[in-house]
Amino acid sequence: MKQLTKILVANRGEIALRVMRSAREMGIKTVAVYSEVDRRAPHVLFADEAVFVGPAPSSESYLRGAEIVGVAKELGVDGIHPGYGFLSENAAFAAEVEAAGMTFIGPRTHAIEVMGDKLSAKDAVKDFEVPLVPGSEGEVQDVQEALSIAESIGFPVMIKASAGGGGKGMRIVQEAAEFESQMKRAVSEATNSFGNGAVFVEKYIQNPRHIEIQVLADEHGNVVHLFERECSIQRRHQKVIEEAPSVVLTPELREAMGRAAVNVAKACDYRGAGTVEFIFEPGGTFYFLEMNTRLQVEHPVTEQITGVDLVKAQIRVAQGEKLWFSQEDLKIQGHALEVRVYAENAAENFMPAIGTLLEYKRPQGLGIRVDDGLEEGMEVSIYYDPMIAKLITFGADRTEAIARMKRAISEYRISGVQTTLNFADYVMDHEAFVSGDFDTHFVEKYFTPEALQGDDVDVESIGAMALASLLRVQKGHEKIQKNGTTNRWKANRT
Ligand code: ADP
Ligand code: ADP
Ligand code: MG
Repeated sequence: MKQLTKILVANRGEIALRVMRSAREMGIKTVAVYSEVDRRAPHVLFADEAVFVGPAPSSESYLRGAEIVGVAKELGVDGIHPGYGFLSENAAFAAEVEAAGMTFIGPRTHAIEVMGDKLSAKDAVKDFEVPLVPGSEGEVQDVQEALSIAESIGFPVMIKASAGGGGKGMRIVQEAAEFESQMKRAVSEATNSFGNGAVFVEKYIQNPRHIEIQVLADEHGNVVHLFERECSIQRRHQKVIEEAPSVVLTPELREAMGRAAVNVAKACDYRGAGTVEFIFEPGGTFYFLEMNTRLQVEHPVTEQITGVDLVKAQIRVAQGEKLWFSQEDLKIQGHALEVRVYAENAAENFMPAIGTLLEYKRPQGLGIRVDDGLEEGMEVSIYYDPMIAKLITFGADRTEAIARMKRAISEYRISGVQTTLNFADYVMDHEAFVSGDFDTHFVEKYFTPEALQGDDVDVESIGAMALASLLRVQKGHEKIQKNGTTNRWKANRT
């Protein structure tokens, strides 16, 4: 077994920090990479060493795999962790890392390739007792043929790009009349966005939940699952609030979905931590959607309810260790919630809202975890994902986790940039969420900008007030008043 001694994290922001923290606890040295705009970012300051890799656009910095591998070799790095996004699902990068004699902290190239494409993923799992969404056998090219498949499944259907991801590359088709035009658009979008025009047809599940299973595999053929995450609160087919466990899974369903997920991992000879996503219909039918061959944004909720540090687990199995626990050893303890704090204006259709974090104070106390990668005074950049932080709470049960989330949101102080904390607060209070009776359409069904009324104080004037008080602090005249600007902001929030 090889012991890693120095890991380069080919990523930025909260996930780079997250990975480095576990590495440090394991006595492993860390190397950060950074772009022009990230010179003073927390992940850079935290690392033992840091290397500049290029200008702000990720194509010129964080996505330059060959450069990053070169830098790693020069610094005597023996393992590379890709985080999520960027190069994390790039099989060629994983291969390059291994070819250079280092360990890629993730699955082997084969698994990334197979699961990176939705069609090859379905093909790989079809003999492994994994339920698939009814749909075309493979890619559809001929419109008439595709239409007749759609008709046999029954409308509405979804046309999906095989290479899609991040909620992009999906089109819902309500009826036969619009099929042809939608299919043409889907193909051209897929070609332009993913460089691969392959699309397929899938039944559109009307009121589904998104439930996914965390898996962990070693390279000796052992695979376990670490239960589910409920990720149905989404905007633009992308998750914004996640939790574990899901209120709708019975022990039997959990077992069945866990088994299916383990089978998916086996189908691609998986190694490391991965996520098998399912779409779940009322009544308990579930279908395989895709597998993400990396650490997921929402992995903390699983860590909180299982006590397993997933990054350490990734590193240990990448070193060749055998899994040190069995399925029976794993138990669900309590309940965890995660809110993705995006720099977005929920009232304006979740439009990205960039700016400077004039005030940034994290909530604290029992049952709260904040994974973030920015400090007060820093800018939320237009170049990268607009996620500022992940706010995670955990409690003995769901009720306590929700109450803590509300408390944490009320303690969180962010000014200068509009965030989705107000939206999260709305969700925590909503009857459908509290009762657990919701699906992936929560936002369209219930959320309106008016729901935030009383909350939409003028961000710019708040920002200006905060800036003024910051300047006073810097001059040493006055401390930011605890009951000053931010509490006035909160008074307006009810
Ligand atoms: P997760 O799947 O981990 O729950 P997301 O779907 O938000 O979370 O994706 C994780 C990260 O990967 C985000 O930064 C997202 O922008 C990025 N991402 C996922 N798929 C793609 C893709 N096909 N192209 C570009 N970025 C992607
Ligand atoms: P991505 O690669 O972009 O993450 P997924 O296949 O995982 O794509 O789907 C993302 C989201 O889109 C799901 O969580 C769900 O909300 C919705 N979705 C995907 N497929 C279907 C389907 N067949 N029926 C209904 N909703 C779907
Ligand atoms: Mg997905």
